[in-house]
Amino acid sequence: MKITDIEVQPFKYVSNVVRDTEGHGHPGPEHDVTGTLITIVTDEGAKGYGFGINPDVVENVIKPAVAGEDPFYRERIWQRLKEWQRLHLGVLSDRIVGVIDLALWDLAGRYLGQPVYRLLGGYRDTIPAYASTMCGDELPGGLDTPESYANYAEECVKKGYKAFKLHTWMPPIRWAPDPKMDVAACRAVRERVGPDVDLMVDCFHYYSREQALYLGRELEKLGFRWIEEPMDEHSISSYVWLSGQLDIAVVGPETSEGKMHTRAEWIVRNASDISRGGVFDVGGITPLMKIVHLCESFGVACEIHSPGAGNLHVLAAMGIPGEYYERGLLHPFIDYDKPAPYLKEIIDPLDGDGNVHVPQKPGLGIEIDFDYIRANAV
Ligand code: MG
Repeated sequence: MKITDIEVQPFKYVSNVVRDTEGHGHPGPEHDVTGTLITIVTDEGAKGYGFGINPDVVENVIKPAVAGEDPFYRERIWQRLKEWQRLHLGVLSDRIVGVIDLALWDLAGRYLGQPVYRLLGGYRDTIPAYASTMCGDELPGGLDTPESYANYAEECVKKGYKAFKLHTWMPPIRWAPDPKMDVAACRAVRERVGPDVDLMVDCFHYYSREQALYLGRELEKLGFRWIEEPMDEHSISSYVWLSGQLDIAVVGPETSEGKMHTRAEWIVRNASDISRGGVFDVGGITPLMKIVHLCESFGVACEIHSPGAGNLHVLAAMGIPGEYYERGLLHPFIDYDKPAPYLKEIIDPLDGDGNVHVPQKPGLGIEIDFDYIRANAV
């Protein structure tokens, strides 16, 4: 089997998530967004799908790297894309490499009639989820006060969630960041949901060492499960300094570049207690499974970053914790259970016990609405 083409179909859809000047998503007015459907096409008719690469990048970088390859040679394709990143880093991010890698796994699963996690080697098909909020905002009754976070946490627990993660206030909100306000929100949530719900926080990512230590110590008093990315992850020394002093689990790295290499360095330096990565942070399922096995070798847990089909299949193929699936980002004003207009259903419905179930359809299990995409083609 050979890859003969990678098709890109841009299409319009309506979204009610707007981006602030720093890139954080918040609820907002409906507006048009352009998406792209990526289709890997082969000479035997097998196809794999993904979203979100612009046509120029596919034409000028991806196609020259992968055309003519056997789509089952995922490791060779991934290694080549990784090497091509050195001189094409301006356009060939880990996210884009991840889209191609996921589409190849999707193709393999569809061709063989198996869900991806079974190809990886299944371990479980049900994963507990935590409710992961959007960043704080100034929308009345949204995520604007500690009280609002507490209200929303209570609502999530009623839906079945056993765990809740706050993303607190960050710039461009004029008074943010503020570690004391982070603690106030965390305290309000803990007091509202009681001691039996796992709570985590993902705060401003550029606190100083002393601010991060203050926050961590306050969260220990509140019985939080973990703290995530309170400082710039490029400073491994800062995380060694912080983790050495805190009892609460420090989770990371999440956004730091370098795939499995970076995770290995963090582990040997004891920079965090629990490692982290998601398919679009590290370049796909192929490298994320390497990270999972790296963590297993060192006896370190690995919490998977972000929702989505790729991460769900990895979680279902992990024999070590990853305890939770990150479901979100959630907000009181957003209906997360309503599928995007170009999908027939969401990938991760929540059951009444706060679990998600890995899709059993062939491939990644994403139900694409091809008619919608055709009708809204740009
Ligand atoms: Mg995070």
